[in-house]
Amino acid sequence: KAKKHLGQHFLTDENIARKIVDGLSFENYGNILEVGPGTGVLTKYLLEKEQNLYLAEIDTESIDYLKNNHEEITDKNFVGDFLKYDFSPLAEQQTAIIGNFPYNISSQILFKIIDYYELIPEMVGMFQKEVAERTAAVPRTKDYGILSVLVQAYYDVKYLFTVHENVFNPPPKVKSGVIKLTRNPKEGLAGNEILFKQIVKAGFNQRRKKLSNALKILDIPENLKTHEFMDKRAEELSVADFISFTKLWKENV
Ligand code: SAM
Repeated sequence: KAKKHLGQHFLTDENIARKIVDGLSFENYGNILEVGPGTGVLTKYLLEKEQNLYLAEIDTESIDYLKNNHEEITDKNFVGDFLKYDFSPLAEQQTAIIGNFPYNISSQILFKIIDYYELIPEMVGMFQKEVAERTAAVPRTKDYGILSVLVQAYYDVKYLFTVHENVFNPPPKVKSGVIKLTRNPKEGLAGNEILFKQIVKAGFNQRRKKLSNALKILDIPENLKTHEFMDKRAEELSVADFISFTKLWKENV
């Protein structure tokens, strides 16, 4: 019995499960952390790999099911709520993330991954299609926004494939999309993360306005008020533009 408040939709298609697992490279990391294993449709393939496997699951019924059906899985594998996990027990090695994520916490999962990007070289995961598209979006498109810029500042994003509603039990209301993140932090961000987020958020929160207007809620440094970007809208700036602009801003305050 799936629990709606936990975002439970169980994947019933083995080929798709295998395709998701095959999205990971299994190179250059010692740990794999699966978010929301549920009844283990991805987990059984992950158990075949040489990496240490950790499972973030909050549904006790799923946890018992996994322990009862796989003798390799014990309490030691479980790390609790993904959003509360701080990665310190895994920090000796790099950790890849995988999951058919609970859709109610999609962006929180992505923001958590970028917070811990130094420990996370790779992620393959399923989101509602719209979130997958927004994460992978390029400038000058309607999907390009806060999620695209913040994630792409740390990771190359590849949209892998779309998954139809009817391969889940129960079927979700919308299609899903599987994306892969490969760590590639952009130069120039170091130390400027907070300001970077403020600029990106303010810019896209009023995405129809020019940056000269949208960024007014921040204290724009005098020198930047005539910068060429001020005449543009947020969606016209690349991720690299946002980063160089942040750097310049910081130097001029
Ligand atoms: N992996 C299974 C599959 O593909 O069939 C289940 C996917 S289901 C969409 C999402 C899973 O995430 C559920 O098992 C749910 O209990 C779990 N979950 C929900 N919130 C969570 C959280 N904060 N941390 C870890 N797991 C969570």
